[in-house]
Amino acid sequence: MQVKLKFLGGAKTVTGSRYLLHIDDYKILIDCGLFQGLKELRLRNWDKFPISPSDINVVILTHAHIDHTGYLPKLVKEGFNGPIYCTFPTMELTKILLKDSGKLQEEEASYAQKKGYSKHEKPQPLYSIEDAEKVFPLLQPIEMEKEERINPSLSFTFFNAGHILGAAILKVKVKGQTQEKKIVFSGDLGRYHDPIMNPPVRIPFADILLLESTYGNRKQLTNKPEEELGLAIRETFRNGGVAVIPAFAVGRTQMILYYLHLLQQKGKIPNIPIYVDSPMAINVTKMYKEFGHYHKLSPVLEEEDCNPFLHKKLHYYQTQESSMSLNAIRGDAIIISASGMASGGRILHHLYNRLPNEQDSIIFVGFQAEGTRGRKILEGEKTVRIYGIDVPVKAKTFYIEGLSAHADQEELMEWAEGFTNKPKMTFLVHGEREAAESLSTRLKEELDWNPIIPEYLESFELFDGI
Ligand SMILES: [Zn+2]
Repeated sequence: MQVKLKFLGGAKTVTGSRYLLHIDDYKILIDCGLFQGLKELRLRNWDKFPISPSDINVVILTHAHIDHTGYLPKLVKEGFNGPIYCTFPTMELTKILLKDSGKLQEEEASYAQKKGYSKHEKPQPLYSIEDAEKVFPLLQPIEMEKEERINPSLSFTFFNAGHILGAAILKVKVKGQTQEKKIVFSGDLGRYHDPIMNPPVRIPFADILLLESTYGNRKQLTNKPEEELGLAIRETFRNGGVAVIPAFAVGRTQMILYYLHLLQQKGKIPNIPIYVDSPMAINVTKMYKEFGHYHKLSPVLEEEDCNPFLHKKLHYYQTQESSMSLNAIRGDAIIISASGMASGGRILHHLYNRLPNEQDSIIFVGFQAEGTRGRKILEGEKTVRIYGIDVPVKAKTFYIEGLSAHADQEELMEWAEGFTNKPKMTFLVHGEREAAESLSTRLKEELDWNPIIPEYLESFELFDGI
């Protein structure tokens, strides 16, 4: 039996995670992500897929983030028709995120047509909402830590990875004629002291390991995000303003709600109304109750008064009209809306409305990538362009660190130390070059590992004649 691995993405970049395992003629695609960020990466979404999608037998997903699932509608559109295995929460989250992604693709295409910047007369979306929905019947949920057999020589198991609801580490077992081999995909690893998600499970053994390296070169400050958030809210309240928090609907919004509720319960911030202005967030928040045993919060979700996602001062706004109505509020309120880097979505009209007001605040709670509006506002630019207009930045801005859903360098090392034997081959994936190199250096020096940082479309023979 021969086993090969090809990197169809997630190599020297944090997006487009897709790893193809060839086991003789059987083909498994692990994750099926969209490329995001820089234009040269995004253009890869339009390239012909490196192998015919109808030749792939199964897809296995580590978690629902779009950089791990967002290419699925295109894969299905082009002929993939096999099962897509994932955990139960990943299945539900993937449905929500893919529909949203289809909507964004459609909007982008019609915007390109309106502005006339596409070389096509009628620019087509990468995929539509309808294409996204065609993925749903193929999704097959599997319990965590339950070995699932695909065929007599192949099985796989999911283990909790922390990170986001349902996120999993994947172990694939290949049984050859003489030997059995284990291939472990870390997926995205969460943090060891996350207030909501459980820490990633340690895996004692792997022949082959694919380890993420998003924050391979970063040590997160051990600051207290709760206190900093409290300070920012108190200051806005004293100024009589509204605090606007740009946050992604999955994961980050729930973490902010958790901290805000804690601060209100402790009397550290006033009991002012909190508005979650996102059509997605309400569905995602419901899932925390449905999938109580996938996180730490289930006991508090049972009682209305201590439920950080469902209490009297918390309001979910779904419609466009209710969203616009928030612009009339003059003070004493907190608004949470997406997208987290102010690159699109409803947050734009809030910023358009709030940025010119000195008494209001914008509180950033996540990394702001280069080129985004969020980064420009944080770097102190005097104006930012929204809806084609230069909007003056007069509102106060804050940046709260330490709320990331990713393990930092220290935590990646801690997880790697959980292996009792050194894997025969380790590939560092899902990280920019500097991040992967920095983690590689520590793995070499401290654990005597010899990691490989693969290139896009590079192939490796893992086993021959097992
Ligand atoms: Zn992720």
